[in-house]
Amino acid sequence: MIRVRYAPSPTGSLHLGSLRSVIFNWLFARHHQGKFLLRIEDTDLERSKPEHTKAIYSALDWMGITWDEPVVIQSERTSLYQQYLVKLLIEKKAYYCNCPVQLDLATATDYRIYDRICRNKNLTSGAIRFKLPENFAQNNQVSTSANNLTSINFTDLVYGPISFELNQLDDFVIARADGTPMYNFAVVIDDHEMAITHVIRGEEHLSNTPKQILLYQAFNFKTPEFAHLPLILGRDGRKLSKREAAVAVEDYRLKGYLAEALFNYLVRLGWSHGDQEIFTRLELIEFFDLDHVGKSGSIFDLDKLTWVNSTYLKNYAAQQLLDLIVRDLDQDYLTKFQLFQATQILALLELYKARVKVLTELAEIVLALDQAPVTYNQAELDKWVAPNFSELKTQLNQLILNWENLANWSAPEILNSLKQLCVQASLNLPDLAHPIRLALIGHTASPSIAELLAIFPKSEVIARIQKLIKS
Ligand code: GLU
Repeated sequence: MIRVRYAPSPTGSLHLGSLRSVIFNWLFARHHQGKFLLRIEDTDLERSKPEHTKAIYSALDWMGITWDEPVVIQSERTSLYQQYLVKLLIEKKAYYCNCPVQLDLATATDYRIYDRICRNKNLTSGAIRFKLPENFAQNNQVSTSANNLTSINFTDLVYGPISFELNQLDDFVIARADGTPMYNFAVVIDDHEMAITHVIRGEEHLSNTPKQILLYQAFNFKTPEFAHLPLILGRDGRKLSKREAAVAVEDYRLKGYLAEALFNYLVRLGWSHGDQEIFTRLELIEFFDLDHVGKSGSIFDLDKLTWVNSTYLKNYAAQQLLDLIVRDLDQDYLTKFQLFQATQILALLELYKARVKVLTELAEIVLALDQAPVTYNQAELDKWVAPNFSELKTQLNQLILNWENLANWSAPEILNSLKQLCVQASLNLPDLAHPIRLALIGHTASPSIAELLAIFPKSEVIARIQKLIKS
């Protein structure tokens, strides 16, 4: 059975790249009817913060991503790591070191290969280093020359065959002097204990993989398969950064992107299924595979995400949109309306959903309709109202009178009444419709005038028209 995991470190907000790793793991598990697990990697006690863990849960919840077994929390497993550290020490595959070291070797700019000075000191405290093997049993993951290990080889499921020269590695630190395990150590213990079959993660971890493979071999654990995912890039070809676009998942929720749209966009960013752009989640589960994950970094394209988002918005039912507005954007949204009831709000959402790109925009537009406009677009007033103001006033008053006799305040009847008046007064429909739009919403950009009017109470429409006429 396939078992994968997402293993975030709660040291910052959840980044788009991390979210894509979660999604790929989740789809891979669901496609193969395997298990998707969650592990919080919080052994760096200084940098790990509960609010970041909360943000991870809330982003996964927003995405509708569920995990199949209780969450594994590394800070609760200290004694487990301890046992395995002791095992390596006893087997002389690791040793204590009291050199002043920069532990975060991956990011250290003055990185130098450690000179192994403590290897034979037989210290009994300090940081713990893994002893790079010299005479390693020959197997398919190591190349040897005259019995000496020279390189570590593995086949990445995205990048293909990868080889690391052993002389690029050093006796890396696996536990800090305070006993807390380092990432490369804890990840191997946990992936083994959790019986992970496939490690699918960002390319930035590629250089950790040989160290992890060495640990798997030192413990005689079965090594999982590895798949590293290319980075998400900015337009400058470098890792997407805050300078270019929001990188925190939470920001997209607040800006009115739909979880499904972001999910769809992120999957396509780095994976393809022919030319198809829009997928249902079930389709993604059915089609997803690692074979079609691209090897090169993908450039984040906000315009395309926004296009995907507007496509989803169009296809959502108004009730779904309303639920999302209340859940994700504004709990009190409905209480802010004075004029419209829920059914009218739903009708307005339906009418406007194809005209917007993000949910925030839709929520704002519909809420704004609730109040009579305070100002009118001046250029449009000059064009549609000012030139024949007195005739227009007469025509609008006539229209109001005609509306008194309408059997039904419905879109077809309203449209009929508008057309009739246009014929009588030799007007084109926009000559009448645009002034009405201005009266109703302050500008002329709106969906079908009759459909819009029909959602408003007749009395409110009349009041807004009279307000314009008197202005
Ligand atoms: N905790 C690591 C991170 O957040 C991921 C480790 C892994 O997937 O192996 O980048």
